[in-house]
Amino acid sequence: MFINDGDTVCVVGGGPGGSACAMTLLKEARRFGRTINVVVLEHKIFSEDRHHNQCIGVLSPPFEDILKNELDLTLPESLVVNEIAGYRLHSDLLSLDLIGEEYGRSASVRRSRFDAFMLEEAKKAGAQVIHNRVTAIEVNPDEVLIYTDGENIKSAIVVGAFGLDDGTCRVFEQGTPYRQPDFLNTVITRLYPGKEFMQSMDCTIQAFLLSHPGLEFGAVTPKGDHISINIAGRKVTSNIMMEFLRSAPVQRFLPPHQRREKPLNYYKGRFPIAPARNLFGDRYVTIGDSAGLMRPFKGKGINSAINTGIYAARSIMQHGVSKKAFAENYYRDCRVLTEDLPYGRAVRVLTNLATRFKFMDHMIAVAAERPDFMKAMFSSVSGHDPYKKIIMETASLSLSLTFAQKILGHFVFRQQAHLPVKSASPAV
Ligand SMILES: Cc1cc2nc3c(=O)[nH]c(=O)nc-3n(C[C@H](O)[C@H](O)[C@H](O)COP(=O)(O)OP(=O)(O)OC[C@H]3O[C@@H](n4cnc5c(N)ncnc54)[C@H](O)[C@@H]3O)c2cc1C
Repeated sequence: MFINDGDTVCVVGGGPGGSACAMTLLKEARRFGRTINVVVLEHKIFSEDRHHNQCIGVLSPPFEDILKNELDLTLPESLVVNEIAGYRLHSDLLSLDLIGEEYGRSASVRRSRFDAFMLEEAKKAGAQVIHNRVTAIEVNPDEVLIYTDGENIKSAIVVGAFGLDDGTCRVFEQGTPYRQPDFLNTVITRLYPGKEFMQSMDCTIQAFLLSHPGLEFGAVTPKGDHISINIAGRKVTSNIMMEFLRSAPVQRFLPPHQRREKPLNYYKGRFPIAPARNLFGDRYVTIGDSAGLMRPFKGKGINSAINTGIYAARSIMQHGVSKKAFAENYYRDCRVLTEDLPYGRAVRVLTNLATRFKFMDHMIAVAAERPDFMKAMFSSVSGHDPYKKIIMETASLSLSLTFAQKILGHFVFRQQAHLPVKSASPAV
């Protein structure tokens, strides 16, 4: 099963993964002197901010290298809303600036504009973009039939780049053995506190690991003229968002006149925390969020979507469209992500236990005193290092003893548990 001259490759979804895949398919075709048609089906219109994909819109390192080296693109400066200066981590009682080395720049963008830019570049590279919604797929031994709410398309392979769109996950589940990945729900809201308040905020992402039931984590991110607030958990709702906004550690970052106000709008989203089952097969492959191929816990989802889109395109053009070819090439290229999954899961479970048993204050206190643990916390929150590396570098006898002492103190002498320490500052 190989791609022949004149074949069509159809990409369902024109987010960062789909656009990067389309660009790479055409680049590879040019490299091998081949002629193929690449069709991207995207039902949203990103230009003029008409539609958007749920996101905070932070591009983290090494996004510039990926764009430049793999796609020959430079992010237009006009898309950058602000630079991200760093991260501050908050538990129920303590706060700590996470100090570490970022190998590259972090910048926030308006997601709809970034998606419009990427899709436009895919068009410039020669992809045909059709603004229809895919409603069904039929994978036959010799071709794939893609039904949309407009015209139907015959394709040699279908690339699933549809994110975690519930309806499209079901379309793929019905047409192939694909099963959507496990995911967390998210709620985002925005506050517009006015120019003066925004100027007084530094460009730091405030990350919260609080002991609130149902909440895995939350963040407050300044974005130009507004603050984006997002929470994530199995069953987060607008009510949990209200409770998060009214919690003491978060209130400090809200403008005084909006501290008791209900936000006007909430936006629901999801992000994957495990790979999809059967994420590829004969004549189909999924990438990005659809495949669940991203770092568990702290995402860098845009980078992972672009990378997996590139790997899938190379695999298709160089090795064909059979399940075997995807297993031996595409999935092997994704090993940076897949090999780290068990370690990421372990960090997520430990973090959830720490927040549930109100132990996060101690962890922040230890990070304030021990540079090795500070580095681990920084890498986890910034998503800089693989979790395997974080765990290996942190697993030392002396650190284990420090935690054993803290755990003993926490559960046996609970009254000692809330003492703030040296350089971590009390959150309220
Ligand atoms: C609350 C939240 C905040 C986040 N913040 C960040 C962040 O700051 N930085 C970061 O790197 N990542 C972030 N992420 C993750 C990031 O948004 C995703 O990992 C990334 O968008 C995945 O890209 P993708 O191309 O795989 O899918 P998507 O970006 O979801 O794109 C899928 C596209 O497919 C289209 N589509 C779906 N179904 C159909 C259909 N049937 N027909 C036609 N088109 C269809 C959709 O319209 C969409 O445009 C965040 C996620 C959430 C939920």
